[in-house]
Amino acid sequence: MATNITYHPSTVTYPERTSLRKQKGFTLWFTGLSASGKSTIANALEQTLLKRGLAAYRLDGDNIRFGLNKDLGFSERDRNENIRRIAEVALLFADSCTIAITSFISPYRSDRDAARALHASPPSHPTQSLPFLEIYVHVPIEVAEARDPKGLYKKARTGEIKEFTGVSAPYEEPVDAEVVVRSGEESVEEAVGRIVGVLEERGLLSFEGEEGKEGGT
Ligand code: ADP
Repeated sequence: MATNITYHPSTVTYPERTSLRKQKGFTLWFTGLSASGKSTIANALEQTLLKRGLAAYRLDGDNIRFGLNKDLGFSERDRNENIRRIAEVALLFADSCTIAITSFISPYRSDRDAARALHASPPSHPTQSLPFLEIYVHVPIEVAEARDPKGLYKKARTGEIKEFTGVSAPYEEPVDAEVVVRSGEESVEEAVGRIVGVLEERGLLSFEGEEGKEGGT
């Protein structure tokens, strides 16, 4: 642990940055079983937001494990560390006024709660929280297993992959997700439309400067 370090705060506040960038930053945290559809929906959502002229960037499970987290495996401890790092990176994206879209199984409730808590009180500006929305992509395990696009469930059942979520490792369902997508019943387009609707309702796709301008200030 480093000791002789001091946090150097930015001179630009989050509201100022939002106004200058003309966009709010926040994190959309996808969670769900493997093959539930997190990456597919997150990818389509990212595209939709980009086409609306918004900065959005997806942090995706396997992709991050090729680089930033290539030293981590799938033990509980490594999964905790995986999620801790992702939460920190998502926070930086959100703080820079980008929409961070994370797509990780993130099976432990305590890890997701820690990511939420980090956004509620970021070290850079503890009194200015950044919005954090959990999106639970829910699907019965039988449906996920029947999809099995990467053949992972098959390997988990034969024991070739150990500690596989839903088969030989736990998945703790969210209790307070802002959006629940039932990907066995809802199409990708429907899910994206509903998520965008929630973001609009919460005023996350507009910024205060817009309303201010209309008010002549
Ligand atoms: P995850 O990221 O959760 O592991 P993926 O998105 O990689 O899941 O894989 C989900 C698979 O399920 C894809 O092959 C996708 O085409 C398929 N699929 C079928 N219906 C849906 C749906 N309604 N939403 C998302 N994915 C779906």
